[in-house]
Amino acid sequence: MQRNPSARPEATAAASMANEEAVRATLCRVDEILRAAYGTPDLGNKVDPLDELLFLLIAQRTRIDLARKVYEDFRREFYPWKKVLRPENRAGLRRALSKGGRGNLRMRAVRELLSEISRRTGSMSLDFLRQYTMEDARKFLLSLPWVGEKTAYCVLLYSLGHPIFPVDSNIIRILRRTQVLSPVGVTVNRIDHRVAQKRVLPWVPAGLAYTLHVNMVVHGRTICVPGNPRCGVCPIRLWCSYYRHREYRSLSGNLTMIDLFSGAGGISYGFARAGIRPVLAVDRHVPSCETYRLNVPWIDPHRVVNADVTSMKKREILELLGKNNVDFLVAGVPCQGFSRVGLKSKPALRKQKPPEKEPINKLFMEVIRWAKLARPTIVLLENVPDMGRSEVFFEDRNVRVREHLDKHFRSMGYRTGAVYFNAADFGVPQVRKRLFFVAVRKKGLDAAVVDKILALDTCRGNVTSGRYLSFSDALRGLPALEAGAGAAVSAVTKDYLTERSRGNPYAAFVYDSPFAVFNNSARQHNEDDMRIVSALHGGETYKSLLSRRPDVVANRRMKTYSATSFHDKFFRLHPGRPSRTIVSHLAKDGNSFIHPAENRSITVREAARAQGFPDSFVFEGARGAQYMQVGNSVPPLVAYAIGAYWRGLLKGRGA
Ligand code: SF4
Repeated sequence: MQRNPSARPEATAAASMANEEAVRATLCRVDEILRAAYGTPDLGNKVDPLDELLFLLIAQRTRIDLARKVYEDFRREFYPWKKVLRPENRAGLRRALSKGGRGNLRMRAVRELLSEISRRTGSMSLDFLRQYTMEDARKFLLSLPWVGEKTAYCVLLYSLGHPIFPVDSNIIRILRRTQVLSPVGVTVNRIDHRVAQKRVLPWVPAGLAYTLHVNMVVHGRTICVPGNPRCGVCPIRLWCSYYRHREYRSLSGNLTMIDLFSGAGGISYGFARAGIRPVLAVDRHVPSCETYRLNVPWIDPHRVVNADVTSMKKREILELLGKNNVDFLVAGVPCQGFSRVGLKSKPALRKQKPPEKEPINKLFMEVIRWAKLARPTIVLLENVPDMGRSEVFFEDRNVRVREHLDKHFRSMGYRTGAVYFNAADFGVPQVRKRLFFVAVRKKGLDAAVVDKILALDTCRGNVTSGRYLSFSDALRGLPALEAGAGAAVSAVTKDYLTERSRGNPYAAFVYDSPFAVFNNSARQHNEDDMRIVSALHGGETYKSLLSRRPDVVANRRMKTYSATSFHDKFFRLHPGRPSRTIVSHLAKDGNSFIHPAENRSITVREAARAQGFPDSFVFEGARGAQYMQVGNSVPPLVAYAIGAYWRGLLKGRGA
């Protein structure tokens, strides 16, 4: 076959364009997050260009709070600035500027600067620079004594409003650690500010120079500090190479796991937090894979495979598995086929095809297929409780799923068992009953250890605190929202840190983002729905509302919901109890998940709180896809408890 000589340059150009877009998109995101976290504070910079120049001279190599004070005192005493040049004021000037250190040097700088401006312009003002182009203003500023490139850039940005991006040591440090510019080949290691400014400016998205600059400076002063950065509370850590590498290395040599039907990564996240490294994840849903890659830094992102598990050939699987042994194979197999709220519950669909013949109900067979190839020590399969009792049709007869699993795993040398868990028993604010099927390979393990691994329900006690956590309690620290309000990223409430220190395992696990809330925008409701939503009491269904307040539904559109078929079409979550089971159907309709205290359906973040996802976990994709990911997940807090329990039992087989 002849090669197309132009293919390679085109591919290279496309790849480089994709990298450029990715870099700008990341910087937009970083800007959005930092703005939410810090609110673009006033750093004390001045609107008047000459004031700004003098402030910058005073602020050089001085703590910012001290510099502000020194400048304010200096201005109070010496404004209008011609006073600075009077010989009789020299002693007072030295005294005023010495408060920030290096008084003689600063006095010389200030005097020389002002006398040069006076000599060249005949005034004590730089206002005329507002009429200059950016380049002309830059040249003029650089021609003044004591004005370097960084100082000139700050005046251009802060006082003259030019789209320029001054790079100081804080910004260099953040760019070096995050490596956000590395896809376009820009590195900022050990280079001076002038070079950095030239390299960075082309990548700063239009209109973001000011906010990005100010917030990065604040971030560098408070979180991404020299020495030991405070990565544990950093709101941009998921986009930071330093953090991701550090986390990746932290699980090196540990027990390993494969996650099938991984979704957003709820099980992997929980297991990884318990010290188990995910080495391969497969899911066919693109946004779920994106979410997984972003939030699970302990895996090589190339090993998050976007594919349909059922269509993967044996050779492909073996190639992915490689030669290394794996300790766990986990699978949150899609459960719609067995679920009471899924296909099984829809009479119309049941007529078309009985549930035992639905292909989706045979997905669990994939777990058997992969286990035969990977030979993991432990297999965990999560599904709705009905799965254990359900039947599927194979060849010429119906067989029970549980029996089928037992038969296959026993023939491979495994012992099997199953437990039914309610997520609420693990400190999660949600009633979520699930079946966990477990298979343990007997070879190489003491029978007593195998017994303990199968006795999975003992790990429940690790996290319960005696009573169920209510959904309202779990929502604390999130901002109150009207229907239709909120944002992809917003600020947390003032009491977030207080909530974080409440001392229960849920708060310790979930409250890990004290600077920004993600995925927290509320849906809009139409007027008719809003009347119903507003009238619902906590824990009340649509059916109950119909009999209590027939007036609320007295209009044509609402009568289309039958109280028999749609008895919980609307439901307000009870404030004093855990949430009802969070389902993927939230992607389509949130009316059966109305906030316990506010008149709107719950946001993705609130649903994630009900699932025990940490606040730093960011869901990717459109909002509908985000709801789906949350609803389909295994609560990470449950996965964490299981992972920690098993890791303890397998001690010595990994770090
Ligand atoms: S994660 Fe750590 S190193 Fe990265 S930007 Fe945040 S504080 Fe700095």
